[in-house]
Amino acid sequence: MNEELKNEEPKAFTTPCYKLTQNHFLYNTMPSTLLHPLIEAAYRVLETGEPISQAEALQLADLPGELALDLGSLANKVKNRYASETEALHACSIMNAKSGVCAENCKFCAQSRHNHADVEVYDLVNEESALIEARNCMAEGVTHFGIVTSGYGYKKINPEFLRILNMIDRLHTELPNLHVCASLGMLGEEPAAALAAHGIAHYNINIQVAPDRYHALIADTHTVEERIATIKLLRKNNISVCCGGIMGVGETMQDRISMIFALQELDVTVIPLNVLVPIDGTPLAGKEPLSVADIVKTFALCRLAHPRKTIKFAAGRETIMKDFQGLLMLSGANGYLTGGYLTTRGRDVADDRHFASQIASFN
Ligand code: SF4
Repeated sequence: MNEELKNEEPKAFTTPCYKLTQNHFLYNTMPSTLLHPLIEAAYRVLETGEPISQAEALQLADLPGELALDLGSLANKVKNRYASETEALHACSIMNAKSGVCAENCKFCAQSRHNHADVEVYDLVNEESALIEARNCMAEGVTHFGIVTSGYGYKKINPEFLRILNMIDRLHTELPNLHVCASLGMLGEEPAAALAAHGIAHYNINIQVAPDRYHALIADTHTVEERIATIKLLRKNNISVCCGGIMGVGETMQDRISMIFALQELDVTVIPLNVLVPIDGTPLAGKEPLSVADIVKTFALCRLAHPRKTIKFAAGRETIMKDFQGLLMLSGANGYLTGGYLTTRGRDVADDRHFASQIASFN
């Protein structure tokens, strides 16, 4: 991949673009078609399952919007071949188990006490409330349920953390088929080891943006290095890490690519991609949305850099992307967050299930 390729005119295929398999025999009979040479070269990911390089991603990101669908189409094929779920799509739900008055100053967040958003404030919910939410989640056919708390996190095991551990145990006992996940902020050695012992399916902690832009774009009351240290601790304890980012907070496409490749280095298991939902009372209220083509490209490049990972569309799917959410789900994602977010409502889970079954017809 080099500068010449980038400037080369699209040309007709003269040879098959990738090796044919029994399951993909139709490509054998496809007529020659036009693809940009950079995208044509990236088709090798489909053949080999090996990710694109960061240099390639930067060049692909520069392609005009009219080629975003070609890139999305390749990403969807890579997803089908290397990351199809047993279910049509990986779906999970979260519960805001402790809300508001967070001392951190994340610019996008309604729960920061530095911001002035109208948000519910409550301490850690009791086990019964968590159980009701988890039962509803399972009744809707969603098998992954995340307990999310506002705040910096837990460097030590304190009484509140012990209550969370008891909550996790209770959910396991009463709903043995439920995968219990958690997102509790930064962790110290002991809390991380305790979560491993209590059988967490995934732990969510996002790096949000390119690590070197975290301080400017997200928060300065804590550092991205503290987040990365928690991710390393989770991996040391064999806890599967769910870690991704947010788009539309003022970052550039290059920043997004840096984030995607930082996630590759951290070797996370699940990558949630969020689109900013600008909330009144936060510094990002009224922020102009990104172009859909740029978001499609980001999803597609994330898939091409992580051919085998679970990539989940989290916040912003229904609220911001509206008509385009299906397009984004066909640009490399193989999972989604359903049933509402921490401080904003989502779509009905039943509607999402129908949506997921329609998306599956592109598999
Ligand atoms: S994202 Fe988490 S840490 Fe940041 S302000 Fe919101 S609740 Fe606090």
